[in-house]
Amino acid sequence: MIDPFGRHISYLRVSVTDRCDFRCVYCMAEDMTFLPKADVLSLEELERLCGAFVRRGVKKLRLTGGEPLVRKNVMSLFRGLGRHLDSGALEELTLTTNGSQLAKYAKDLAAIGVRRVNVSMDTLDGAKFRELTRWGDLDQVMRGLDAAQQAGLHVKINAVALRGVNDMEFGDLIRFSHGRDMDLVLIEVMPMGEIGDAARLDQYLPLSLVRTDLARHFTLTETDYRTGGPARYFRVEETGGRLGFITPLTHNFCESCNRVRLTCTGTLYMCLGQEDAADLRAALRASESDDLLDRTITDAIARKPKGHDFIIDRRHSGPAVPRHMSVTGG
Ligand code: SAM
Ligand code: SF4
Repeated sequence: MIDPFGRHISYLRVSVTDRCDFRCVYCMAEDMTFLPKADVLSLEELERLCGAFVRRGVKKLRLTGGEPLVRKNVMSLFRGLGRHLDSGALEELTLTTNGSQLAKYAKDLAAIGVRRVNVSMDTLDGAKFRELTRWGDLDQVMRGLDAAQQAGLHVKINAVALRGVNDMEFGDLIRFSHGRDMDLVLIEVMPMGEIGDAARLDQYLPLSLVRTDLARHFTLTETDYRTGGPARYFRVEETGGRLGFITPLTHNFCESCNRVRLTCTGTLYMCLGQEDAADLRAALRASESDDLLDRTITDAIARKPKGHDFIIDRRHSGPAVPRHMSVTGG
């Protein structure tokens, strides 16, 4: 699949549920309203949709959410998708998780063929973790990390940079992650969805500042290492580990975008930061053959926009798009 700007679309991210067992302050409001269950695709439907993308040349699938591992029976979806790994049609099946259920599922995931997982962890301080996730338990996530590594999964830690919350901790997060042979990726907070009282402007911490600050304590050497995503990686000479920066606000990386995103209701978003979308659920349910579905996907890719328009400043502290990250899948 090639979009109008010549970009090869080889990566599909799927939000398998918009629900979650955490309520991270930058992601959700505490009293979130979730999608009605009746609108959500069955796991079999999600598998069929993913299969259509794999047939069209998607090589990398990432399941995300919401929290993918809280969806009932989600392992059956992983198993179904694992067959595309066995056939060689798919190169990578992976997930982004908050880690709360990893202790339970790490072994199964590894057996299915998952090799890498991204675990989101913004702080190493248990009390702060509880505050930030509202409902999360850091010890449980730590047990999940242990289980993942014991199962042989490569773990990457994702941390959203939040001004006044974890900005004193990046050095500790680097030492912790690299000490356990895990990459660390820092992410700029993006203006997506209403999140209650917490204002984006207060949360937003440009990573250009973080990098300058870190360079006072660590030697950061630029590398050309890529994982097919938007992170730019540096080697931290003192630890020998990798540190990535995802900077949608301070450095726009849309020119190399290779991905589209599917929600659990079968809506395909061609860009995380734009509203245009295609309804694949209707196409999927209209017939047992995949012809209409394939046509709908082709039409959607032909509409992939050039990029997002995220801005956070004094005049723009509301959401750039009304949907939450948990709907489109971060
Ligand atoms: N629940 C899983 C997790 O937390 O990893 C998967 C879904 S979560 C929406 C995916 C990633 O998006 C997480 O790393 C989270 O920190 C990040 N995220 C959520 N809201 C965000 C926002 N407004 N800006 C930047 N990153 C955000
Ligand atoms: Fe849940 Fe992930 Fe959003 Fe946190 S970031 S509320 S864990 S979906």
